[in-house]
Amino acid sequence: MKNNRNFVDVNVNPCKMCMPMGACLAFKGVEGSIVMMHGSQGCSTYIRRHMAQHYNEPIDIASSALNEKATVYGGEANLKRGLKNVIKLYKPKTIGVVTTCLAETIGEDIDRILKDFMVEEGISPDDLKLVAVPTPGYGGSQFEGYYLAVRKMVEKLVVPSEPTKKINIIAGIMSPGDIRELKLILERFGIDAVILPDVSETLDAPYRGLEFEKIPDGGTTYEEIKSMSGSIATIEFGIIGREDFSAGEYLKKEFGVPVYRIPIPIGLKNSDTFINLLSEITGKEIPEYYVKARGRMLDAMIDSHKYNGAGVAAVFGEPELVTAISSLCLENGITPAVIATGSNAKKIQDIFEEDIAKYCEDAVVLEDTDFETIREYVKKLGVNIMIGHSDGKFIEEKENVPLIRVGFPVHDRVGAQRQVTIGYDGSMNLLDIITNNLLSEKYSTFRDEMYEKYYNKVKAEVHA
Ligand code: SF4
Repeated sequence: MKNNRNFVDVNVNPCKMCMPMGACLAFKGVEGSIVMMHGSQGCSTYIRRHMAQHYNEPIDIASSALNEKATVYGGEANLKRGLKNVIKLYKPKTIGVVTTCLAETIGEDIDRILKDFMVEEGISPDDLKLVAVPTPGYGGSQFEGYYLAVRKMVEKLVVPSEPTKKINIIAGIMSPGDIRELKLILERFGIDAVILPDVSETLDAPYRGLEFEKIPDGGTTYEEIKSMSGSIATIEFGIIGREDFSAGEYLKKEFGVPVYRIPIPIGLKNSDTFINLLSEITGKEIPEYYVKARGRMLDAMIDSHKYNGAGVAAVFGEPELVTAISSLCLENGITPAVIATGSNAKKIQDIFEEDIAKYCEDAVVLEDTDFETIREYVKKLGVNIMIGHSDGKFIEEKENVPLIRVGFPVHDRVGAQRQVTIGYDGSMNLLDIITNNLLSEKYSTFRDEMYEKYYNKVKAEVHA
């Protein structure tokens, strides 16, 4: 297994998005919250556009709209004016103040500015929470931005609490459909949980006619976040990221809440880990539904393994999703020949080292990579299926390799916000899609190939 053999010296079409994007995604899962981006307008436009296309929802993100003057003399006045407008227009309960390349480069002291703002405006912290997150675009990808934002929320909002018998779940960058599936799993178990962030309603709201909510209903409430210190444990979907970006590690350090950092439950192994952990932590029996669902998934794996053996996959996107999906591929006989992320994620190599050495020693694990490099490996390693977000569409078009769209962003298909890929049911759903794509590829060419062979054979006999 090789790591990061880049074909080009420059980064061409990076396989990542910028850090504040992740922070914006995280704040969308907090009740009554809005994001104020401290930077130039283009940053918020870029993020709004991607989110609106992916979720098909109106996405409001405010901007302090730094201009040349503010860049030279400091953007404090812009930020304060912007905050005042946002409070007046949206009446939020929480504002995530997310920085950008520009604000970080000029060295804005956001914590001091926000403190002064609250005093100057006479706002009580009981009425409004301001959570600052330092997210320069060059400080990492959307992956780091997401986990850091959740960590900052927890640092700022959690206070000592009485024991609650709940469990905390720190969700990864997951679709609203997956968060709903997660809630269903917890409900079937009879477990009370605080899910942070909870985008199940905020980024996939029901149709309401002409009624327009400036801040959509739903999201994790402040009361829930505040009491996370009293929970019996935290399960964090995140094994790749830094410890100091982990909300679960913070709750453990500050309040003694045990933390279990596990992969996103996609695939049999990862779903087992999650389901067994829920049972272990709470002492509750695994519901009959999931005993059967596991059996159904095993049955589905047996049904499709004979087709999946032909699969040579390129999996790319955000590191946690890539890790979970590559695991699903491996346990189903699909060779993950290219495992790629644009984020810094050396741990992925360690996770798959043994499996890949056993099953596909030519496979590459690429971190901090770009689509040009992924494309070269797709050609070189004979990849016949790609699993990742829509930015891989250019490889799909140029190399004629089908792309199964999973993750964020998906801007050239509908339904990404409803996708369910977690747990036994979601994994089975994803596996069926992968297998059916492989079958579709097989049947789209095999007749032509057969006739070609037959024609050539007959032609050779005639001329003999
Ligand atoms: S990379 Fe920097 S300048 Fe570009 S959108 Fe992200 S934060 Fe803004």
